[in-house]
This record gives sequence, C-alpha cells and structure tokens, in this order.
Amino acid sequence: MATYPAAKLTIPLDIPDVDIIGTEVRRNGECYIKVESRKEITRCGICGQEIKCNYGHGQEIRLRHLPVLGYKTYICIRPKRGQCKSCMHEPTTTQTLKWYEQRSPHTTSYDGYLMKQLIGSTVEDVSMKENIGYDAVLGTLKRCVPVEVDWDSITHLGTVGIDEVALKKGHKDFAAIITARQDDGKVVILAVLEDRKKKRCAPF
Ligand SMILES: [Zn+2]
Repeated sequence: MATYPAAKLTIPLDIPDVDIIGTEVRRNGECYIKVESRKEITRCGICGQEIKCNYGHGQEIRLRHLPVLGYKTYICIRPKRGQCKSCMHEPTTTQTLKWYEQRSPHTTSYDGYLMKQLIGSTVEDVSMKENIGYDAVLGTLKRCVPVEVDWDSITHLGTVGIDEVALKKGHKDFAAIITARQDDGKVVILAVLEDRKKKRCAPF
C-alpha cells in the first residue's frame, strides 16, 4: 500500500509584526518557529529618540510559547540592533517587541497561559506538567504582577475571583490571583498578591 505524507495545516501565528523565516518540528516533540521582526526602528536606550535598526542582530533568543498541537513550542528570534548617532560614544540598543519582555524566557502569551494553569494548582505542579523549571514559573508570577490595575480595560467587575496558588506543596506559602470575568467571558488578571493576608486583599 502506498503511503501518503500527513496532511498539512496552515494557521496564522498569534504574534504581531514578525515574519516566519523557518519552522522545525523535532522528533522529541519540540517545535521551533524562527521569526524576524518587521519593524525597522527602535528607541535609543540612552536618549529615547527613535533610531533605525541598522546595526545587525543580537544573539538568538529562544522563548517558550503556547503549545502548537501538543508540541513544546519555541519562538526563536535574533533581535535587531540600532545605533544612536546623537548620543556620546554612539551606543547601540537592542530592539524590544511588545510580545515578550527582555530577559524573560517566555512570550507574554505563554506567561498568561501559565497563570491560568496556576489557578487552583501549585508552582511545583505547573513546573512538572509544563516541563519547565520551578524558578521559571516563579518568574512568570513576578512578571504578571501588575504595577497598577488598568481599570479602563475592565468593562465589568461581575465576578471577582480570588484564587490561591500554593507556592510549595504542603507549605503555607500562598499567592493570591485576583481575577475578574468580563462580559465576553474573558478572564483578566487584576493583581497577584504575595500572600493572602486579609489586609492586602482589602481593596478587592
Ligand atoms: Zn541616543
């Protein structure tokens, strides 16, 4: 009997302002999506003015992203660099893009996905299920703590949830995730509190 290649699927990537320059699916269940930024400008890290990205690329970074068809998925990018001619010593700046934070090993959407996994679960559980380090999950918690709640983006405070996240199994070390369910069914994270003392939850 003749064998046919598996049917292929094309779906849009949920990341803005990039082109896909390669994809690789490995036998070990990992998927690598290589992307390049479409943006040609960035802001000088010293003076803040817009500069052209005409100074090559930085080292490739690999960011864990939402799983595609169950594959452990990574986005790989070599960030563009620009040079400021107005500042003294003409410093270079690495372009930053809004779908990941500098020095984070995850894309912003993967962080959001982990936050949902953490509800009613422990950091250890999520670390094991997702096959990432304990510290990587803690890093997500820290990044997802909003400095200030953006009340304009919240249409409805209907159901406000307070979910405990146990930092370690069997320990009384909790974080609380405050969420609000919107009219459209979306759940937004309002705050993450490091412990669940009544005083800290009082504004909610
Ligand atoms: Zn500058």
